[in-house]
Amino acid sequence: MAPSAAQRIVIENCAIATVDANDTEYASGHLVIADNRIESIGAGKAPEGLENVVRRIDATGHLVTPGLINTHHHFYQWITRGLATDHNLFNWLVALYPTWARIDEQMGYAAAQGSLAMMARGGVTTAMDHHYVFPKDSGDLSGAIIKAASEMGVRFTLARGSMDRSEKDGGLPPDFAVETLEGALAATEETVKKHHDASFDAMTQVAVAPCSPFSVSTELLRQGAELARRLGVRLHTHGSETVEEEQFCKELFGMGPTDYFESTGWLGEDVWMAHCVHMNDSDIEAFARTKTGVAHCPSSNARLAAGIARVPDMLKAGVPVGLGVDGTASNESGELHTELRNALLINRLNPVHREAALNARQALRLGTYGGAQVLGRAAQIGSLEAGKLADLVLWKLDTLAHASIADPVTALVFGAAAPVTASFVNGKQIVENNRLLTVDEDAVARSTRDEAQRLARIAAQG
Ligand SMILES: [Zn+2]
Repeated sequence: MAPSAAQRIVIENCAIATVDANDTEYASGHLVIADNRIESIGAGKAPEGLENVVRRIDATGHLVTPGLINTHHHFYQWITRGLATDHNLFNWLVALYPTWARIDEQMGYAAAQGSLAMMARGGVTTAMDHHYVFPKDSGDLSGAIIKAASEMGVRFTLARGSMDRSEKDGGLPPDFAVETLEGALAATEETVKKHHDASFDAMTQVAVAPCSPFSVSTELLRQGAELARRLGVRLHTHGSETVEEEQFCKELFGMGPTDYFESTGWLGEDVWMAHCVHMNDSDIEAFARTKTGVAHCPSSNARLAAGIARVPDMLKAGVPVGLGVDGTASNESGELHTELRNALLINRLNPVHREAALNARQALRLGTYGGAQVLGRAAQIGSLEAGKLADLVLWKLDTLAHASIADPVTALVFGAAAPVTASFVNGKQIVENNRLLTVDEDAVARSTRDEAQRLARIAAQG
């Protein structure tokens, strides 16, 4: 319970989708924020006689939901959007690695600001960045990314990535784009020790995140898993994204990606993987048995023609599933709220599931509570319940775009991207009427354009 001196914000007269275990909803309810926590939530008006109410919001015409949680992204790609637009994953990677290997700290900071700003103004309250490109002499990229998230006021997980399997070892990245095994492990450990906060209301956490089977040695996967468990942090990587990756694993390791991950210590409740498109029944069973999480990235999977992940089967088996934007070089929009709709629509295109694939409430759960589960933060965020952190969004649903849809959750998921009247993170408002309060969006737009042009010039020089 918050102390009586806590500063309170009262939100009233709104529909509320709590996304708690029972999917409790209120057609007209209230929510009280006390400092950085949700103090009370329920039907009707807020309790009378609350002290220290610093603000009272009449949220008539709105739906309040937990803040959206993004579980897979590559911020640096904000400055390489719109390139190699008609490629599959492997061809797209080979086309872009030489450019990506030229990034520096200043570019990384600007790209992180762009990625974060685009998500935050659309209702994301917890972001993650899987960053795995660390060119020699590129400065403190991890520090720059964390600084951008902290200035934006967004809760954040940095997945400190790495690559050490280059072309000379049968991998996909060029030799100059990778780190050594020892260098990657040491830098990852240093980043965890410097930035990871294990407290209940942590704004910054760090995960250990070698990039993928085709860019990382078996030893880096093995030792990365050991490092994460020794330090008590989570593990993240890409898995089972394309048919080509499956062939690569079978040729090099004599087994498919899930069996390979299991053999290197990479299945477990402290692990989440992006994509997981090409999974057979026994792969899904292994994820369910070990509670390994999945970051479902429907738009990126469509953009790179990777396929349709079996999300309904995963949910039925008990696999924790969240949503991911993925890097904006493979999902140029960079928005998570549109992924609610895309997850629903794309999964219905799977001829096995059709209209029974996902409903609106399941899609909202993927983007909120499911995300909290895969980031290991379900006790703190992901649903609106008394005692949890005050990360929440007020979606405006009484304008032309949504006013004629009676059910607010249907309006949010099936309808156009809804305007965000207000978004709160840790009890602090960061968005008002679709504009960020914490950074100057126009300045971010200019610096990202400038850094994109600088990177293109440097890459063209070779
Ligand atoms: Zn990715």
